[in-house]
Amino acid sequence: MPKVHRLTPGIPVVLAKKSTRGKDFHDDRDAAEQEFGELRDELIRLQTALYAEGRQKLLVVLQAMDAGGKDGTIRHTFKGVNPQGVLVTSFKKPSSEDLAHDFLWRIHRAVPGRGMIGVFNRSHYEDVLVVRVNNIVPKNVWRPRYETINNFEKHLTDTGTRVLKFFLHISKDEQKERFQDRLDEPDKHWKFDHDDLNKREQWDEYQIAFQDMLNNCTTDRAPWHLIPGDQKWYRNLAIMRVMVDTLRNMDPQYPEADDLSNVEID
Ligand code: ATP
Ligand code: MG
Repeated sequence: MPKVHRLTPGIPVVLAKKSTRGKDFHDDRDAAEQEFGELRDELIRLQTALYAEGRQKLLVVLQAMDAGGKDGTIRHTFKGVNPQGVLVTSFKKPSSEDLAHDFLWRIHRAVPGRGMIGVFNRSHYEDVLVVRVNNIVPKNVWRPRYETINNFEKHLTDTGTRVLKFFLHISKDEQKERFQDRLDEPDKHWKFDHDDLNKREQWDEYQIAFQDMLNNCTTDRAPWHLIPGDQKWYRNLAIMRVMVDTLRNMDPQYPEADDLSNVEID
């Protein structure tokens, strides 16, 4: 079941034909939320073991249109997880120092170390998304980046990092509603960004850029998952299922303890 949203290398997707609403799981939201809660408890247990084991690493990459739900996904799925073992990095516009280096420089520094879960809120993929749509660099610079990224992710997986990539797929109508909420609710005003409206005007160009990203950078070791994102409860459960399934598969073990039977404390 966790494989339902996983893309397959060599089988390209047409984003416009992919539903932004999920229908493969529970019919009702209550049942989905119940399962989500149970899986989150399991995630907490698995993360504790991953941290204690201190050997393996998990990287979770999130990409979406604005208001696509990256923040909400992180807030809900990692609630209750020991913050010491999770490192969230939000990639904003590159600094002048970032720009003085190659595009993967700031990314590589943020990948998780042993025992850690790293979460990327935006990522190296911005360098084939916003950078492409806004012509920040010419095509002969961004186009070869797909291959560079595949090689980079291969290097990560070769060196003990599991890589999970989620594209949160929302409809243009859903984005409008979420922007409207940000305007209507005073405690969401801070999330409203005028620039998001400019990006909304480039919706079709972004969809093409996302589609090319999915089709060029789905590899066996680091596949993309295309997550229907209009219903938040569905999105959260879909992602949680993949994360828990992956961690079960990584099967972290508590390290062998010393024999403590003779230890006495004065
Ligand atoms: P929120 O969801 O809270 O609005 P955000 O991720 O949109 O968070 P912002 O500070 O609003 O954060 O926006 C970050 C901006 O930085 C985005 O518009 C993104 O496209 C841009 N950005 C990220 N990486 C790059 C990059 N490599 N080159 C150019 N722009 C980038
Ligand atoms: Mg923003």
